[in-house]
Amino acid sequence: MPKTRPHVVVIGAGIGGLCTALRLAHAGAQVTVLEQHSTVGGKMRTLPSIAGPVDAGPTVLTLKHVFDHLFTSVGARLGDHVTLTREDILARHFWADGTTLDLMADPAQSRANVANAFGSHAAKQLDRFTNRTAKLFAAFDVPMMQSPAPSLGAVAAKVLHNPQLIMAMAPHQSLKTALKYAFDEPRLGQLFARYATYVGGIPEKSPALLSLIAHAEAQGVWHVTGGMHSLAVAIADLATSFGATFHYDTTVTRIETTNGRVAAVHHGTSRTIADAVVFNGDPNALPARLLGPDVAKSTPAKTPRSLSAYVYAFASTPRGLPLAAHNVLFADEPLCEYAPLRKGEIQTDPTLYICAQDRFGGNTPAGPERFEIILNAPPIRHIITRHATERKASCLTLIANKLHHFGLTFTPMPKLDSLTTPQNFNQMFPASHGSLYGRSPHGMMAAFKRPTAQTSTTGLYLTGGGAHPGAGVPMAALSGAHAAAAIIKDLSLI
Ligand SMILES: Cc1cc2nc3c(=O)[nH]c(=O)nc-3n(C[C@H](O)[C@H](O)[C@H](O)COP(=O)(O)OP(=O)(O)OC[C@H]3O[C@@H](n4cnc5c(N)ncnc54)[C@H](O)[C@@H]3O)c2cc1C
Repeated sequence: MPKTRPHVVVIGAGIGGLCTALRLAHAGAQVTVLEQHSTVGGKMRTLPSIAGPVDAGPTVLTLKHVFDHLFTSVGARLGDHVTLTREDILARHFWADGTTLDLMADPAQSRANVANAFGSHAAKQLDRFTNRTAKLFAAFDVPMMQSPAPSLGAVAAKVLHNPQLIMAMAPHQSLKTALKYAFDEPRLGQLFARYATYVGGIPEKSPALLSLIAHAEAQGVWHVTGGMHSLAVAIADLATSFGATFHYDTTVTRIETTNGRVAAVHHGTSRTIADAVVFNGDPNALPARLLGPDVAKSTPAKTPRSLSAYVYAFASTPRGLPLAAHNVLFADEPLCEYAPLRKGEIQTDPTLYICAQDRFGGNTPAGPERFEIILNAPPIRHIITRHATERKASCLTLIANKLHHFGLTFTPMPKLDSLTTPQNFNQMFPASHGSLYGRSPHGMMAAFKRPTAQTSTTGLYLTGGGAHPGAGVPMAALSGAHAAAAIIKDLSLI
């Protein structure tokens, strides 16, 4: 008699859910993915435009080796399923005084560009900074990111083995303070401080250790042909080829347990029996009881929130600035640009990120092209639907003023309906408070406080940017590896 295949239900088809589903389907589990939206990808979503679908979520793909490994671990090749191209320019940075700086895939070119923009002393300081971030990344990749549950003990052992790391970590400094010491040129400090926002943090409150994010980007930025959403589709297709089934427009409203272990999930009027359940939504949804009372205490109480954002996705014709694919238009006042966010308010002098997604590979398209503009914002405190249109309009004005300040115009200017607000994110990703990166990364211990794949309910696992090792597409993919490994072991799948 063939052994019955265990049934695993994955709630959510974000990148973490997809990577878990793929690995488990390959390992022989019967996998059912239930997704409340009508397509895969979660935050890796697109919006329609006259120039085609625009990426309205992540656009910067780093740590490609995480995806190479995902595909090889199921006997496939990433390159056979999706086309990735390495970008020569990591990002083009603009300041309103006319200074521009391209950080490049080739470190020697980056160094030359910094020397050209800010002088040879700044280039030497860049050398020291990049050495430090590379050292930090190498030291913490295994005990933090690759480990299913980071332990203070393992990290302490690493540091004791290599005491120089303490200086590189600057454990008592914020990222902002560490950068003040690293660079005399405030614009370089401003540039690297912004990396805290990649995981939803404010530089003043994020640990100096987060400078290692700069090294993740320095290792290469990749462009996915067809947009980031195509990567999600490719993973879902491969999981399907191993027998996983996907059901869309299906919201799970309850995870049922029997004698302390998961037994079934409820959606609409249906009940699906499960040997294990993987939750890919924001972990805060569990204590918020959005998955019912049985699992409300499966994870720590609600966690502090990372940043949200206002996101424009639109097609238009730009004029006035020589945009690359990834662009940053900096705030005028680096010392106080994040102060409003700290108070839960919208910035008055923000830094904007602009992705010109038709310019990958150095293209300069004629006619309307696709753009995403991201303005960091605080997570929401209350669900307010009143005055939503006024708030959107004032955000549009803020962005339009910033673009004007840099001499950049879009014809036509994006309209209100191409804007996604923190309130919209909260509706799309329940219990998130609009926060896009799960738990706030503030404080030296934040990484140890993130929920891990294992929960306190037998058979219930977490995956995604809200779980360890944290936010960002590759990190959420790694969390999928951790969740799948735990389930494979617990259900004796291999
Ligand atoms: C505007 C923006 C820009 C970003 N830029 C970058 C970037 O450039 N590079 C980068 O690496 N990262 C970036 N990120 C972060 C990155 O997108 C996320 O960290 C990552 O995609 C999160 O994946 P996830 O696995 O947590 O799933 P999510 O994308 O959060 O998806 C979770 C899924 O679960 C579903 N779900 C939740 N609850 C239920 C339920 N009860 N029933 C059914 N389904 C449910 C949701 O509908 C959703 O589809 C960005 C994010 C945003 C929003």
